[in-house]
Amino acid sequence: IGIIIEPIQRLVNFARLYQEGITGFDRFMEIMEIEPDIQDSPNAIELEQVRGKLEFVHASFKYIEEHQNVLTDVSLQIDVGEYVAIVGASGAGKSTLCSLIPRFYELNEGQILLDDRDIRDIRLRSLRKNIGIVQQDVYLFAGTVSDNIRYGKMDASKEEIVEAAKKANAHDFIMKLPDGYDTDIGQRGVKLSGGQKQRLSIARVFLKNPPILIFDEATSALDNESEKAVQNSLERLSDNRTTLVIAHRLSTVRNAQRIVVLNENGIDEQGTHEELIALNGTYANLYNMHLKS
Ligand code: ADP
Ligand code: MG
Repeated sequence: IGIIIEPIQRLVNFARLYQEGITGFDRFMEIMEIEPDIQDSPNAIELEQVRGKLEFVHASFKYIEEHQNVLTDVSLQIDVGEYVAIVGASGAGKSTLCSLIPRFYELNEGQILLDDRDIRDIRLRSLRKNIGIVQQDVYLFAGTVSDNIRYGKMDASKEEIVEAAKKANAHDFIMKLPDGYDTDIGQRGVKLSGGQKQRLSIARVFLKNPPILIFDEATSALDNESEKAVQNSLERLSDNRTTLVIAHRLSTVRNAQRIVVLNENGIDEQGTHEELIALNGTYANLYNMHLKS
């Protein structure tokens, strides 16, 4: 009976959160175990071993037909295991670019390829299973700490959950909670800090273990200790995964193998930090204005 009740309870929780309007569609789909609204094409395939090469091919996108493009003719290849930082002014389309990869939205023109295959030819569930997303606003469900980490992999064992929490630098604070991993997050008196919530969501992604990682870096300051712990666990998480970071911090940008600068037309510049500084264009400007401080 337990086996049956649990998923229903989850659906109830989802439904309630949905009704409460706590979250937008993107965040709701962070978990990506929900039945998606996009229909698979009849020939859509299940991915086997994903390496994690990503490619945008002349990709254009707009949210609303009569509006201007958010992205125009974007061509960008990201190699297996590469660490790419996306920078650009607010509204330039950084989040949009990233949300197109798990197909939260459909391109108007062009293609996105995963391991040389058009993502529209892949079963949505299969595509999303291979993508981990860490966002600024972490999405937690009513339930225990364990339950919340388990969303990364529904059939995870207790040991796997603890291991993921350790990698995410979350184990120690979890052990200090009233009931450890069994602490009900919705309970009165249990209040997690922003950094702790973020580490829970990182633990989820460790558990899920996807070859592709998308990280929308927080602008809001976490407390110092928490920020270090989050940074450290994210660095570990990005190891051996194709990683796209919407970057706000200089440290993140500098560590990137490649920086892609977006503007209202699409890709403005790309290269390493040194290359872009030497170019003395948009990135150099951005760096001097914001990132440097
Ligand atoms: P960034 O992450 O670089 O700040 P976004 O990708 O969030 O930029 O937004 C790019 C543009 O698309 C902005 O003009 C924004 O207003 C618009 N936009 C973002 N999300 C939506 C949406 N769901 N519907 C309509 N327009 C949107
Ligand atoms: Mg954004």
